[in-house]
Amino acid sequence: MRKRHLSAPVLAVVAAAAAIALTTGTVPSAATAPAAAAASVVPASTPAAAPQPPIIKDFIPYSAARKRQMAAYSWRHYHQRTWLMPDPKAIILHYTVSPNYPSVHNWFSANSPAPGNAGTRNESPGACVHFVVDKNGKIYQQVPLGLMCRQVIGINNRSIGIEFVEMSSAANILNRPRQVQAGLALVRWLQSQFSIATSDVIGHSMANQSRYFVDYQGWRNDHVDWSKSQVKMFRARLLLG
Ligand SMILES: [Zn+2]
Repeated sequence: MRKRHLSAPVLAVVAAAAAIALTTGTVPSAATAPAAAAASVVPASTPAAAPQPPIIKDFIPYSAARKRQMAAYSWRHYHQRTWLMPDPKAIILHYTVSPNYPSVHNWFSANSPAPGNAGTRNESPGACVHFVVDKNGKIYQQVPLGLMCRQVIGINNRSIGIEFVEMSSAANILNRPRQVQAGLALVRWLQSQFSIATSDVIGHSMANQSRYFVDYQGWRNDHVDWSKSQVKMFRARLLLG
């Protein structure tokens, strides 16, 4: 997430009921590949199999207009005209820079155009991620797996985004047992589902160096959420199982 979310208008008028009512049911089959099949090609650094943690589905509206906006963005930045993301290869860790879950959910629901990086103009669609992990350990899913969210520059077409509710530092998340345990369980499960290597579990601040990074508009990330050392601590705990 980005600092600007602090000053962004929280559009509480977006009816939560409308968001929850959205059920696209359009998850590509690759997104639901059996863990057993995925496990056969899992690199050594990836958990071979992990159970799915409890997940609360609280989907944002992902309208036809938003799909068109996402596909147009994907064409400009990746030369792929699609709003689908069926083959994730990385997991991006963020924190919200907001005090609670509803504020970030409402922001994602609003689909407000957002800047890319310093100096670039606003573009659509607005930001979203796939999951938000609250301080109490509850995991809220924002969109079905297999849909693309605009959550990071350069890897939206290859990555699953996870936000942790936190105002200022991932160090606080690492010291919040229920939140970090939920995040670890979620990441382990996603790794086992999609054969994602632990080295591809990265912080937003590390995205420009990802082996999957590409942006045909020349954009680069300028965010600082989850430093390299904090991600190293998270990865170490991932491997502890
Ligand atoms: Zn971020």
